[in-house]
Amino acid sequence: MQPIIIIGSGMAGYTLAREFRKLNTEQALVMICADDAVNYAKPTLSNALVGKKAPEQIGLGDAEKMSTQLNMRIEKETWVKNIDAEKHELTLEKDGQTSTQAYSKLILAVGANPIRLAIAGDGSDDIHVVNSLIDYRAFRETLEHCTTGECGNKRVVILGAGLIGCEFANDLQNTGHQVTVIDLAPQPLGRLLPQHVAQAFKENLEESGINFVLGTTVEKVSKTERGYIVSLASGQSLVADVVLSAIGLQPNIALAKTAEINTSRGVITNTLLETNQADIFAIGDCAEVNGTLLPYVMPIMQQARALAKTLSGQTTTVHYPAMPVAVKTPAAPLTVLPAPIGVEVTWENEEFDDGMLSKATDADGTLRGFVLLGATAGKQRLSLTKLVPDLIPASV
Ligand SMILES: Cc1cc2nc3c(=O)[nH]c(=O)nc-3n(C[C@H](O)[C@H](O)[C@H](O)COP(=O)(O)OP(=O)(O)OC[C@H]3O[C@@H](n4cnc5c(N)ncnc54)[C@H](O)[C@@H]3O)c2cc1C
Repeated sequence: MQPIIIIGSGMAGYTLAREFRKLNTEQALVMICADDAVNYAKPTLSNALVGKKAPEQIGLGDAEKMSTQLNMRIEKETWVKNIDAEKHELTLEKDGQTSTQAYSKLILAVGANPIRLAIAGDGSDDIHVVNSLIDYRAFRETLEHCTTGECGNKRVVILGAGLIGCEFANDLQNTGHQVTVIDLAPQPLGRLLPQHVAQAFKENLEESGINFVLGTTVEKVSKTERGYIVSLASGQSLVADVVLSAIGLQPNIALAKTAEINTSRGVITNTLLETNQADIFAIGDCAEVNGTLLPYVMPIMQQARALAKTLSGQTTTVHYPAMPVAVKTPAAPLTVLPAPIGVEVTWENEEFDDGMLSKATDADGTLRGFVLLGATAGKQRLSLTKLVPDLIPASV
């Protein structure tokens, strides 16, 4: 029998391999990935500075170690260029050489790619993104590089006041860097928070020293002797030693399209994580499961557990309980459970000395989401989560 092949060595790929091996130690398993296959927890990247973690301390195991641990062949630095769904065959490219590889079952765990703004100027190529440990190494090198004799703290401009932009802002600020966050939206975490919570969240981060420039965008980044000049659409300009873009991710659907797999924003799957092509599944940031994209850790754990069972012969649908996301901004501790897209909700608010709680209820009065800002509100996380109905019920 041909091997089961997992494409991608991110959290989705490795969690699935681990869950599968708990159930089946025999079946041949192969992981193919474009990167170096180092196993790491991506969420660590946005609070590694304050945790005094060097990039080399973030990796949990290299390809060799993971291959032994999971009894799995790992083909690293190998691109999957094409899928022939009918022949159950992949076209691979490594070091300019092309080869083919047959599969029995195929799992796309190919993640999401950072969105890049078209920005003018000779400094635009130097803008960092951090969506992998490899990106993070490059970012840390620039951050720790001595410019014009200066080795100390840097002026960092972050494009994007979303979850990842705010987490990096807090981590950099906490370790002495000067941080300015720019976003086109009038508030941080625009899509996740009601306006009054976003305002309080922003004020907490500002009190810690983070500067926000909202309602505008970056037009140009130019290199000069004294640093990068970041020119904004508002006419304002800022000087920076490092520019980081965190304006969002888009699921990687290009490979799926080579096999005529149905895609929307992500690779479309049903609750069994099956695509429309026989024996091809998708999980992680690339997957749009039952109409929902949830690019977070908890959904990956749920997907991997269900798919591991299915691949071992026990067909199992994914269970999505309510899965709140903790935002790693210690200056403004925040937990968010967004209401499902398309559900009309009304917000009910409660204020505390150190924050606030907002509950999103639907027309029937059912709790569908919430936002908890500060330590007092945070204590209600578990009790509120229990009240929110499952997004996808467990199979019976
Ligand atoms: C800075 C940061 C902080 C975060 N913090 C949190 C948090 O606190 N809580 C939370 O819940 N979530 C958080 N997230 C989100 C979470 O980390 C992601 O949901 C998760 O890591 C995605 O894993 P993945 O395996 O789906 O994708 P990825 O990690 O992107 O892995 C994709 C893999 O696919 C490979 N690949 C892609 N295309 C090909 C191809 N054609 N051929 C071969 N290989 C290919 C890549 O090389 C890579 O190995 C954070 C994300 C970031 C960026």
